[in-house]
Amino acid sequence: MAVITNHMPTSELQALDAAHHMHPFTHGTGLAGKGVRVITRANGVWLTDSDGNRILDGMAGLWCVNIGYGRKELAQAAARQMEELPFYNTFFQTTHVPAIALSQKLAELAPEGFNHVFFAGSGSEANDTNLRMVRTYWAEKGQPERNIVISRWNAYHGSSVGSGSLGGMKGMHMQGGMPIPDIHHIDQPNWWAEGGDMTPEEFGLERARQLETAIQELGPERVGAFIAEPVQGAGGVIVPPETYWPEIQRIVDKYGILLIADEVICGFGRTGNWFGSQTMNIRPHIMTVAKGLSSGYQPIGGSIICDEVAEVINGVEFNHGYTYSGHPVACAVALENLRILDEEGIVTRVREETAPYLKEKFETLTEHPLVGEAKIVGMMGSIALTPDKASRAAFESEAGTVGFICRERCFANNLVMRHVGDRMIISPPLVISKDEIDILIARAWQSLDECHAKLKEDGLM
Ligand code: PMP
Repeated sequence: MAVITNHMPTSELQALDAAHHMHPFTHGTGLAGKGVRVITRANGVWLTDSDGNRILDGMAGLWCVNIGYGRKELAQAAARQMEELPFYNTFFQTTHVPAIALSQKLAELAPEGFNHVFFAGSGSEANDTNLRMVRTYWAEKGQPERNIVISRWNAYHGSSVGSGSLGGMKGMHMQGGMPIPDIHHIDQPNWWAEGGDMTPEEFGLERARQLETAIQELGPERVGAFIAEPVQGAGGVIVPPETYWPEIQRIVDKYGILLIADEVICGFGRTGNWFGSQTMNIRPHIMTVAKGLSSGYQPIGGSIICDEVAEVINGVEFNHGYTYSGHPVACAVALENLRILDEEGIVTRVREETAPYLKEKFETLTEHPLVGEAKIVGMMGSIALTPDKASRAAFESEAGTVGFICRERCFANNLVMRHVGDRMIISPPLVISKDEIDILIARAWQSLDECHAKLKEDGLM
């Protein structure tokens, strides 16, 4: 068998992929019939595929390549660490310098009162940690019955059984007996799709107050925590109405439950601040991090824990941990990533320059006949596709049909934009320049035009 390389013809790579590689969230045989796209290299915000196309990555991989592709400093940090100490665990009363340095740096970057980190290999693992930590916390406080965690439908918190249960993706729950017991879901603050006749402000309050109703129905003595993304990502970049988070914060404070902010997407500059909790002005007890922590260059996640919770957990032997908790190479790479984000002022530039520019351009997409609302916070945005803006109508075709057509047009125009149902979403690398933003918008517009033409041709509108 020949060595498999970037230089093989695309068709051969596709055949091998179809023969042996199973893809996440994918209909395998469907993809095999169509032929998978093979990405071979990347630099800045640009991907190259096996046919030599240069594609603008409007999704930063999976919302993670915050500093952009091709930063040699990260490769060098990994190589140095691999030579010095490729692995050692942080169990059994040992540690190593990369884990010490990264946890110290995270304590420095996180809001006041967050001085402790528990590492994991991914966002899913970190949310599993959070579930166990919340329950351990309340048990130690003498309230073991306080083990219910409230989450939201259409939230995404990961793919393990625990984090998938915390999430509110019904398609996931249907496969494999989720959610596990003592997880409860309330509705999401998605005004466009679910707001009916209410104003966004009224709707934000109504959805937040579902938390209070749920606490009262379940019993305040049974509810341990509420988990939410500051801005829902995988659910379709759902930016909550302005009334939502202040009301959630009021309710969390009133009932003394823990607030877990899932910052896996929102963290590390995505919303224009280091953490989405700062942008949304909320005070969580635990923040889940992953993705932008290493800009995706190494798999690493973690939970940043407030002092009060950390003190309780540190007071017991917490029977939990992963082989790769605080993996030295991942920590060294994450540390170098944070250094670059910090010292190059990337988060500040997003907040002050490029995110306002992107917002202005992105919102012009609402002038397109297919686009209802455009919502954007920092460098994460979404547009709702609709056959009728005034009534916020959904298409008659099955949800996602039109979004998929639009995504295919984006691919054809060398732009990666994802669809969630019939919403199109973006989350580009934070280093995207104004010129590249112009290209992104021009390609999005072109793809919308082509999608519009196809819908008419196919009788879908
Ligand atoms: N939480 C959120 C908000 C996410 O967006 C994701 C991944 N998309 C996760 C958790 C899970 O992270 P991972 O895929 O690293 O397990």
